[in-house]
Amino acid sequence: MTTTAPRDEQLWSRCDGCASLLYRKRLRRNLDVCPECGSHARLDAPERVAQLVDPDSFTALPDRAVRVDPIDFVDALPYPHRLGAARAGTGLDEAVLCGTARLGGHPVALAVMDFRFLGGSLGCAVGELITRTAERALADGTPLVLVTASGGARMQEGALSLMQMATVSQALAGLREAGLLTVSVVTDPTYGGVAASFATNTDVVLAESGARLGFAGPRVIRQVTGAALPDGFQTAEYLLRHGQVDLVVPRHALRGRLAALLAAAEAGRRPPATRPAPRPVAPPPAAARPARDPWETVRTARHPGRPTTLDYLETAFDGFVELHGDRLGADCPAVVGGVARLAGRPVMVIGHQKGHTTAELVARNFGMASPAGHRKALRLMRLAARLRLPVVTLVDTPGADPGVAAERQGQAAAIAESILAMSVLPTPVVAVVTGEGGSGGALALAVADRVLMLEHAVYSVISPEGCAAILWSDSSAAPQAARALRLTGADLCRLGVVDELVPEPHPGAHGDPAGAAELLGRAVAVNLAPLLTVPPATLVRRRRQRFRRFGAARSAAAPGAAAPAGGRPEVA
Ligand SMILES: [Zn+2]
Repeated sequence: MTTTAPRDEQLWSRCDGCASLLYRKRLRRNLDVCPECGSHARLDAPERVAQLVDPDSFTALPDRAVRVDPIDFVDALPYPHRLGAARAGTGLDEAVLCGTARLGGHPVALAVMDFRFLGGSLGCAVGELITRTAERALADGTPLVLVTASGGARMQEGALSLMQMATVSQALAGLREAGLLTVSVVTDPTYGGVAASFATNTDVVLAESGARLGFAGPRVIRQVTGAALPDGFQTAEYLLRHGQVDLVVPRHALRGRLAALLAAAEAGRRPPATRPAPRPVAPPPAAARPARDPWETVRTARHPGRPTTLDYLETAFDGFVELHGDRLGADCPAVVGGVARLAGRPVMVIGHQKGHTTAELVARNFGMASPAGHRKALRLMRLAARLRLPVVTLVDTPGADPGVAAERQGQAAAIAESILAMSVLPTPVVAVVTGEGGSGGALALAVADRVLMLEHAVYSVISPEGCAAILWSDSSAAPQAARALRLTGADLCRLGVVDELVPEPHPGAHGDPAGAAELLGRAVAVNLAPLLTVPPATLVRRRRQRFRRFGAARSAAAPGAAAPAGGRPEVA
């Protein structure tokens, strides 16, 4: 926002986005977001702190920035003169304000950069202050929030400023090792050495609406490549589409999103509450219902009215905060994931997402995950393990994306890595096949301690159509293939692939989505509860035993093989 004239500057501002003249107090009440066009004006660090943290909860770190001019740098002016002017102009010692506070009631350490101070540049003092803030978080056992606004490393301090990228990053690594949440809030603009270190190597990266982030600035890129840049290049929305940030958050929602993430992280560090065990769900009354033909079950599992993962997140779970992106270049719409609460307890939920209409199905690629989807899922599972949050996966996919691009991006390796990593993930995992459990794409989310299946879901090595086309040389033999493949829940329970069937309202989840959600939520909670108190090493050992006991292991009693399939795994 630009002030209009000296006399009016306390009263009116002109919006940089739409040039509207705005009453200053009204703008401030709106968190410096233009009520006309939604443009987010830059905030200085004290304003930002005031907007984010609980009132009167901020305590600045006692550490003061030392005056540093390590290479006696002079351009048109000696560097100390520029530093002095920045201090006088901002009232800050340096380009970052650091301290501890509470946010939504949760203790947090935070460092907030100020672009007014030499372009928010990362010098030795800034690096040192952010590092001390991270060390304070480690000592206190609290999460760390970094709000970035920077043109990059500070040239006037030479290579020593470059080193700050490593100094701060290793402090973040310490928090990662300790299982303490780190979040960056990327604000406009964040570039260069800050973008290429602590703005993007935190657990969660939130971008404020309107923020731009990149390694190289647009001018440099145009000079070097001579190419025109795409519309919206390096904007928050562009970064979200390309898997670089978890969420784009408008300023008025930042506090709430941060508070939800901090609450989940805090819950992960608490021992599980001794609440009364949820009541188990009665198994489907098999005798009371006529046996369905497996092909009919396939058709029910694919019914467009069946609840999707996002439907269950709305109904069986609360407070879902979706996290996006594989951090490698894409965000797969066929896989959704994020933190949510189940029966009051934070969990990481990851699932395939289909849709109810053709447009939704197309937008979600029919629930067929790309390699980016598998890599996003894995990133979130690893984050959950670090934060000691249980993982719940909802499986509903015809199979992984079989396209050319998916092959080029390493679909096989992405599935393979997910399967391997889940087998050693040191946190409880409950998987539910809610619709179609199609092949490797399904197993990529289903290497779990407990594998549940909805009553009318299917889980199979190949689609009946695919099997019929190969073995019957006739895809119209799909109903026969469906019978032969043993893909229903009852069959898979007998084979030990599935531990428990979750009943559905009659005639299926599509007929009563709310009732289905209630049954699913209860079944997951019942299965999760006993896992919460099991030490991670024991969980992993039992999970590996669970997947060591199939097929040939049953009869051969291979060395190290555990109880044969079909028996219930030990739980408590
Ligand atoms: Zn405006």
